[in-house]
Amino acid sequence: MSTLSIINANKIQSSLVDSATENPSQIREILAKALEFKGLNLQEVAQLTTTKSPELLKEIFAAANRVKEEIYGRRVVIFAPLYVSNLCSNECLYCAFRVSNRDLKRRVLSLSEIKSEVESLVNQGHKRLLLVSGETYPQDDFQYILDAIKAVYEVANQHGEIRRVNVNLAPLDTDDFKRLKDAAIGTYQLFQETYHRDTYSQVHVSGKKADYDWRLSVFDRAIPSGIDDVGIGALFGLYDWRFEVLALLEHSNYLQNKYGVGPHTISVPRLEPALGSHIASHPLAPVSDIDFCKIVAILRLAIPYTGIIMSTRESLQMRQQTLALGVSQISAGSRTNPGGYSDAGLTDDSQFSLGDHRSLDDVVRDVASLGYIPSFCTACYRLGRTGEDFMGLAKHGNIKQICAPNAIATFAEYLNNTASEATKIVGHKLIQSKLELMSDETRNLSEKLLARLASGQKDVYV
Ligand code: SAM
Ligand code: SF4
Repeated sequence: MSTLSIINANKIQSSLVDSATENPSQIREILAKALEFKGLNLQEVAQLTTTKSPELLKEIFAAANRVKEEIYGRRVVIFAPLYVSNLCSNECLYCAFRVSNRDLKRRVLSLSEIKSEVESLVNQGHKRLLLVSGETYPQDDFQYILDAIKAVYEVANQHGEIRRVNVNLAPLDTDDFKRLKDAAIGTYQLFQETYHRDTYSQVHVSGKKADYDWRLSVFDRAIPSGIDDVGIGALFGLYDWRFEVLALLEHSNYLQNKYGVGPHTISVPRLEPALGSHIASHPLAPVSDIDFCKIVAILRLAIPYTGIIMSTRESLQMRQQTLALGVSQISAGSRTNPGGYSDAGLTDDSQFSLGDHRSLDDVVRDVASLGYIPSFCTACYRLGRTGEDFMGLAKHGNIKQICAPNAIATFAEYLNNTASEATKIVGHKLIQSKLELMSDETRNLSEKLLARLASGQKDVYV
């Protein structure tokens, strides 16, 4: 299959050339269209990326904020990454796990070590994990990952259990995707890193990952294998961010047109320093903070129904700022080294440095103080509202009515089970104020869930 049908670089480049300078009246027309919540086309997105004047930027950010609040309301989904192994056979120049990095301490967690990690995450109150690994599995057998996922789901204690495991794993063939589907994963995430073919070749020097097309065609193997919930992303800092944003839109449109459902999430990692990597601390195409904010806001306007994920690569300030621009999911209390939750302090086996080192409890309290409801909800996945079913709900504006009660209930469960006293005070106050602002129907639904929690039930959702 030609991957040209997925990303047509010439088309993207010519849209960028056609929209080389800021045109205020055009930008305002595009913003008016974005506020109809139907997304934007390539040309329109290219024009938005030219914005430089502070006045217009303010308008873009305000529009992105409106789209976000209209579709997602004020909830923010929280998760933690779980690194199970840093063995890797690829040579990605920006990553500490790359095969030639002799300074990295290699570690593959055993199933019992995975369970200890999960125990520690569950004790903190996490309910959603993103399982991450390098691209070499012990005995060259993907079964390791399937066993790891099973091990995660087996952990349960008085603080709860992990209810959804998403994964960020190297591209698989169809047979392994079917096995992954049977392991009950939530979202299958894979970042193209850069959609620009020459840059891709420059930074992916050897190993399976050097094959651009094998990576770009990944969802054409995942989705037909039954994985209808997928996440895309680009690693910002490798090539011109304007090109990558347009390519993400093209990729999303491709999936939407071919499978009737676009990506569930878009991730926007930005290069962070990594052990022994020159590129990681000297990006080929650095992205300034203001451009990074633009990336988030423009994606929110262009692809309104897709979640945007912000990781702890970014600083506290950037994470706060981008919440208002369209981010709907954040990681918290993260470690990027296998075993990092059990052996705090060891970091010479990490993938990259973190910008936000706070604990889950601190992040939750902060998010709540900003007026967002931290959500640990996993209802859609467990009720089979994935893929097209989820998008259908989102597009009819119904996701907010369902998400708000579920977010409130899972947040209340977190407050009851694990939160510090300071977080409990902020959290309960927030829940009360949110209930007062709700429509009768949504408030009723929320209060019923809260009453079920108060009567001792756990894991309640609609
Ligand atoms: N090994 C698999 C792969 O490369 O697809 C999956 C996991 S990989 C550990 C997850 C992601 O980390 C990569 O897709 C890349 O975008 C990101 N990453 C790698 N090095 C990074 C760095 N120095 N800064 C920020 N993100 C980085
Ligand atoms: Fe390996 Fe993924 Fe790191 Fe590349 S980004 S070296 S494939 S872990």
